[in-house]
Amino acid sequence: MRKPFVAGNWKMNKTAAEAATLVGAMLPELDKIDAVEIVLCPPATAVPAVSGLVKGSKVGVGTQNLHWEESGAFTGELSPAMVAEFCGYVIIGHSERRAYFAETDETVNKKVKAALAHGLTPIMCVGETLEENEAGRTNEVVVGQVKADMAGLSAEEAAKVVVAYEPIWAIGTGKAASGDLANKVIFETIRVPLKEMFGSAAAEAVRVLYGGSVKGSNAAEFFGQAEIDGALVGGASLKAEDFLAIVKAA
Ligand code: PGA
Repeated sequence: MRKPFVAGNWKMNKTAAEAATLVGAMLPELDKIDAVEIVLCPPATAVPAVSGLVKGSKVGVGTQNLHWEESGAFTGELSPAMVAEFCGYVIIGHSERRAYFAETDETVNKKVKAALAHGLTPIMCVGETLEENEAGRTNEVVVGQVKADMAGLSAEEAAKVVVAYEPIWAIGTGKAASGDLANKVIFETIRVPLKEMFGSAAAEAVRVLYGGSVKGSNAAEFFGQAEIDGALVGGASLKAEDFLAIVKAA
């Protein structure tokens, strides 16, 4: 049995002060929920404040990126130890990082390994573009990402990764995939390759999330699917009542 998992990706939104207000508005309700692993991923400047506020609660915190090197001349980056000082989780390889910040399968793979080595749970994102989808290349693209991004992990390490399937055409567009379609893609392009790479036990242990225009009104459609263990939520994670509705649907 995989524990349901819902993470909020706040992207480049909320100052530390605004983050504290948002956490204050939803933490009492979130903390009552035992059945779902809940993670908030604010921008790095708000991470210390949010991690202080959720301390002692069941809610976890993550960053939206990290660097794989331990330290050194990497202006603007966060090392795994810096992230681990405040967080238990880290989003890796989000499509916005791949598209705007030259993230590749090779860097995603290095980051996943660095995160695991520091005891962080990677929330590793994969997904196809609209063009790839329309050209019938979804399976080829996502299988390629899963294989490259998780290359070289042991089965034990792989089982700790949370994979988020986020079709890029569904992110921030209000056009979510259907639950049935997301379930089929996740089975074919994530669960089956994971089984080939790491064996059945590890493949069955990996939590797989759907992401892309998830809201309170459609969350149940995804959470009802056999292969979908939760959601990575962007826009709807910025309002307490919207995020709560999604977590409750899980
Ligand atoms: P969205 O973003 O929920 O706003 O579509 C999802 C994501 O980018 O993780």
